[in-house]
Amino acid sequence: MKVIIFLGPPGVGKGTQCSLLSSRLGVKHISTGAIIRQEIASESALGLKVKGIVESGHLIDDKSMFLCLENALSSMTLNQNDIVLMDGIPRNLSQAKEFDSLLSKFSSKVDLVLSLTADLEKLVERFERRWTCSACGKVDSIVAHTDISKYSCVSCGKLGSMFRRKDDEPETVRRRFTVYQQETFPLVSYYADRKLLSIVDGLKSPEIVYAEIVSILMRK
Ligand SMILES: [Zn+2]
Repeated sequence: MKVIIFLGPPGVGKGTQCSLLSSRLGVKHISTGAIIRQEIASESALGLKVKGIVESGHLIDDKSMFLCLENALSSMTLNQNDIVLMDGIPRNLSQAKEFDSLLSKFSSKVDLVLSLTADLEKLVERFERRWTCSACGKVDSIVAHTDISKYSCVSCGKLGSMFRRKDDEPETVRRRFTVYQQETFPLVSYYADRKLLSIVDGLKSPEIVYAEIVSILMRK
């Protein structure tokens, strides 16, 4: 397998790109959320332990997380040329080292690291335009200074139903960005030193970002 790590602050569009890459190119996508849900669903001893941690609202320890990841990788039938995209792991330097040793068990290594970048203030602006319909769940980008109480949902037509999700509030976006800068950003130079890093501007439109990622993949 070829392993690609996706880095970038929360909200930069990693999830969108992962969906595009998996639906259009058949790239396998591994996210922390998915491997945890899969382990819980298997009802293994590890799954039960992880379920307890999740239900108590705590963060899953690295050891359990990597066991879930190892099980997920083992359960996938992967060919030499299959691309596996990592979203959310590794999240810090110690996880990056742990990830290297896990991959060596699969006779594999990190092949490429894509860093989606965004300026914090631009990211906040993007989220300030993002509203969600309380009636149908549609997420919509609405220009600033719109009177939201007089706005009708483009999907279901309901008037005044758009609200801001907690995750999209400027304070939340700023806090998560800071955590990313402190914990995860050091990985950018870690992988740059190993000549594995490619940088993509995450503030461009999703289709342009996608095209740039595909052209990087073609060159590898
Ligand atoms: Zn709606």
